[in-house]
Amino acid sequence: MKKVSLLAPGPTPVPPRTLLAMAQPLIHHRSADFQEVIGQVRAGLKKIYQTANEVLVFCSSGTGAMESAVSNLLSPGDKAVAIRGGKFGERWSLLLEAYGCQPVNVDVPWGQAVDPGQVEALLKADPTIKAVYVQALETSTGVDHPIQALAQVTKNTGAVLVVDAVSALGAYSIPTDQWGLDVVISGSQKALMMPPGLAFASIGPKAMELMKKSTLPKFYFSWAKELKNQTENKGAFTSPVTLFMGLLDIFKLIDEVGLETIFAETAVRSQAFKAAVAAWGLELYSKQRPSTALTAVQCPAGIDGQKVVKWLKEKYAIYIAGGQDQAKGKIFRVAHMGYINEFDTLQAISAIEMALKGLGHAFEMGSGVAAAQKIFGEA
Ligand SMILES: *Cc1c(COP(=O)(O)O)cnc(C)c1O
Repeated sequence: MKKVSLLAPGPTPVPPRTLLAMAQPLIHHRSADFQEVIGQVRAGLKKIYQTANEVLVFCSSGTGAMESAVSNLLSPGDKAVAIRGGKFGERWSLLLEAYGCQPVNVDVPWGQAVDPGQVEALLKADPTIKAVYVQALETSTGVDHPIQALAQVTKNTGAVLVVDAVSALGAYSIPTDQWGLDVVISGSQKALMMPPGLAFASIGPKAMELMKKSTLPKFYFSWAKELKNQTENKGAFTSPVTLFMGLLDIFKLIDEVGLETIFAETAVRSQAFKAAVAAWGLELYSKQRPSTALTAVQCPAGIDGQKVVKWLKEKYAIYIAGGQDQAKGKIFRVAHMGYINEFDTLQAISAIEMALKGLGHAFEMGSGVAAAQKIFGEA
């Protein structure tokens, strides 16, 4: 019998109490009771986003909200910077191209973080650039881009900063208002501990102004339409009632535990996992600003990262992630965000040790587990 463990950077495990909250009979999406639910979801999102801005909810995966941040801000032919330091940065560039905009690509070697000075120079040289699109955590490489510094760079220019925080929001602090982030995108299935299906976008005043000038086509993902409805606790279309019920329970859970505690515990899991990596004699793939939300491990020479992933999946039903594109076979990635505890992390470490041993890596079995236990014991 195999017990499935989700330890990949999304989807992450959903707390059983939240699954039960989603097993309730449906209520109607146009009822007063559901309006109340929408109101509570809006308030809960603002708390996690640390913002007074409106946070729109869409029924889609995270990419839907990313797309909305192109189609609702720009007009045909507009120039926008896309930070390409991995698979998700490439997605910004592809979205811009799909909408007939001109991506100004800033190519960052995978495993490194963008230099805000480079973006500053681009914006100075070309004041027609309308926006900068970036990831908070580039999930494909495990690197956190310097979001606060980028916000400083865009602040006094005409360009808005759009941050994809799908894998970061809820894993570590992203204070939207304190940092002055114009748009922050997130999704339900990573640090927010929910099934896939909901996407979010916070919209600040500078982005609202740009939105009014945008002429790209939009319909389902129209911010103007959703702003009008959601600020009245309504949805423009049929709301995913069940997912809202679940999200409400997640917000209660986060309130009970405390956002700061969640961030701190995530950081400890990350520290413990990274100590295990060092004990195995391996290195992080993230050469700069490694995230606390996940760890990307560089495989030793001669060991295929895909085989590590397959070993865990087939032998133990433990799901971690491999590398994509240029990182394929070279890395494996393990999540620390969401409804994961220290024993889930120890389980992953223990299973990876067995896979690495089986695949021929020379190291002392149990050394990673011991290193991680030491961190957890001291925390
Ligand atoms: C998971 C993720 C997304 C969203 O992907 P979907 O499959 O559309 O939910 C976007 N950006 C980042 C950085 C992610 O990690």
